[in-house]
Amino acid sequence: MTGTPLVPPRLRDDCFAMPQGVSWVPVDTALARLRAVLTPMTGVESVTAIDASGRVLAADCIARRSNPPRPNSAVDGYGFAHSATGRGVQRLPLVAGRAAAGQPFDGAVPAGSAIRILTGAILPDGVDTVVLEEDCASDGRIVVFDGPVKPRANTRTAGEDVKQGEIALTSGHRLRPPDLALLSALGIAAVTVFRPLRVGVLSTGDEIIGDPSQDAAPHQIFDANRPMLLALAQSLGCTPIDLGHVRDDPALIRDRLNQGATLADVILTSGGASAGDEDHISSLLRNEGTLSSWRIAMKPGRPLALALWQGIPVFGLPGNPVAALVCALIFARPALSLMAGAGWPKPQGFAVPAAFSKSKKAGRREYLRARIDADGHAEVFASEGSGRISGLSWATGLVELPDAALEVRPGTPVCFLPYGSFGM
Ligand code: AMP
Ligand code: MG
Repeated sequence: MTGTPLVPPRLRDDCFAMPQGVSWVPVDTALARLRAVLTPMTGVESVTAIDASGRVLAADCIARRSNPPRPNSAVDGYGFAHSATGRGVQRLPLVAGRAAAGQPFDGAVPAGSAIRILTGAILPDGVDTVVLEEDCASDGRIVVFDGPVKPRANTRTAGEDVKQGEIALTSGHRLRPPDLALLSALGIAAVTVFRPLRVGVLSTGDEIIGDPSQDAAPHQIFDANRPMLLALAQSLGCTPIDLGHVRDDPALIRDRLNQGATLADVILTSGGASAGDEDHISSLLRNEGTLSSWRIAMKPGRPLALALWQGIPVFGLPGNPVAALVCALIFARPALSLMAGAGWPKPQGFAVPAAFSKSKKAGRREYLRARIDADGHAEVFASEGSGRISGLSWATGLVELPDAALEVRPGTPVCFLPYGSFGM
């Protein structure tokens, strides 16, 4: 066989390069650039639908049958032909037998007669309308109710929800529990999905102790970012790959990145990402990978280091846990989603009145740890300190303040982004 062999998509070496002369990049510009350069990075596989929650569709799902498959009753009551009824008190003789869900009535109901029918039962031949049991009196031989009744009342038509052959869910959709209900109802037993994106997470820093069960000297701190970023990757539907922690030693970092490149489709690192003396990740990526330091006009956040290491994208997040989480939610999360085949998500924000005051200067976007108080207002964590990890736990989301200057007073509408809107 001839032809070009299939190769996985590759990112261009200079894909993360920012145009020369750009100093502070607005958040939206940075997001647009990331979105433009990234592509889905994983292959596809077929899985049974019942096991597919959280997976991303790689093909449209076509309804194998209609929902409902046949016209049926929406209530418990009595069914009949509408044409034989009118105004005033209606008295219809009942046919023997009944129609129930899973037990269709075998026969036809003559015009002018009625049949006992239960919710979900297929409408027997001759029945197009159902009257609610509570609106009837019956002795088992006749049924009596007040007319007129609307034609087709209390019935569902075949395919009124979804018709056979229609697209029920489109490629790129991440399956949630209700989607599994839809797939099953439409007779779809298997789905084509993207393989989960493997996300390597690496912490760096001489001061970091990777394992909180160990002893730590006064100058050492436990690794807060790695557990957080691994769990975040998991909640985004990716496969987290723990690349552990390495000291600020270029040789060790190099080895670990090499290892990561064989295990993961993308690597998130934290710490050492700015241009300081001890920032070995950025110097290593600059010298041996292709690094772009994006100075993003955002608080919290130091430069976001973006690089390719052996063709694998590396997101160098700040070391401060607050900044690491915010950068991960704002930048890494949509990037991972796109690479996982699920498209570029925009977190759904809600305008809520502020419960706080703040004079925000122009020039950079700000994200504050926030939660909704009992009055439905957004309150923010008492300290904006980037090391205050407890504030991340205290919060249920972020307040996003725009790039422009803003005078926030109690009652000023602000944009609240619940953690849930980041898939967390
Ligand atoms: P860096 O980005 O390396 O300059 O680190 C900024 C701050 O974040 C320093 O106070 C570091 O000690 C802290 N830091 C870096 N990595 C972690 C981590 N994995 N867990 C907790 N704190 C960290
Ligand atoms: Mg450091």
